[in-house]
Amino acid sequence: MAHRESHRVDRVGWLRAAVLGANDGLVSTASLVVGVAAAAASHGGILVAGIAGLAAGAMSMAAGEYVSVSSQSDTEKADLAREATELAGDHDAELRELAGIYVGRGVAPELAAEVAQQMMTHDALGAHARDELGISEITTARPIQAALTSAVTFSAGAALPLIVAAVAPMPDLSLWVAGSALIGLAVLGALGARVGGAPVGRSVVRVVFWGALAMAITAGVGRMFGVAA
Ligand SMILES: [Zn+2]
Repeated sequence: MAHRESHRVDRVGWLRAAVLGANDGLVSTASLVVGVAAAAASHGGILVAGIAGLAAGAMSMAAGEYVSVSSQSDTEKADLAREATELAGDHDAELRELAGIYVGRGVAPELAAEVAQQMMTHDALGAHARDELGISEITTARPIQAALTSAVTFSAGAALPLIVAAVAPMPDLSLWVAGSALIGLAVLGALGARVGGAPVGRSVVRVVFWGALAMAITAGVGRMFGVAA
C-alpha cells in the first residue's frame, strides 16, 4: 500500500507539470492568435505570430524552468554539504537536534532519542536531509529534465490553437480558435484534476474561466491597437 502511494505522488508531480505546461502553451498561443486576429491581420500574419509565439514561449519556459530548478538544486546541494560538515563536526549535537525534531512532531523524548540514534546509525545524512531539511528523493531537482519537459509540453499545448488557426476559415478564425482552446482547456483541467485526485468540476471551471479571460483581454488589446493603426 505504501509502495503504491509513493508511486502516486511521483506520477502526480510529473503529470501535473506536464498538464500545466500544456495549459500555458494553449492559453498563451490561443490568446496571441485571437489578439492578432482582432487587429485585422492577414491569415499569413496570424500564423507567423502564432508560430513565433510557440517558439518564444517554449524557449522562455525552458530557460525559466532551468534557472529556477538549478538554483533550487544548488540550494539543496549547499544545504546537504553544510549538514554533512555539521554531522562530521558534532555528532552528538546533531543527534539531539534530530531527536528534538521528532519530539516536536509528538514523539515521546526517550523514544525520539532512540529513533534518532537508530536512524543516524543507518544513514545519518539521509535522516537529516529528510527530517530536518525536507529533501527527499522526489524533490531532488533535475534542471535539464524540467527544462525539456516544459518546452515539450508548452509546444504540445500551443499546437492545438496553431493547427486550428491554420485550417479555420478566415472571417471566423477567432471563434474557431477560442472555442477549440476552451474545449482543450476543459480537457486539460479534467485530466489535471483526475491525476491529482482533486474535484474535476471545480478544476475545469477554473481553467476555462482564466483561459477565456486571457483571450478576451488580448482580443480587446488587439482590437484597440488594430483600430489605432
Ligand atoms: Zn542536522
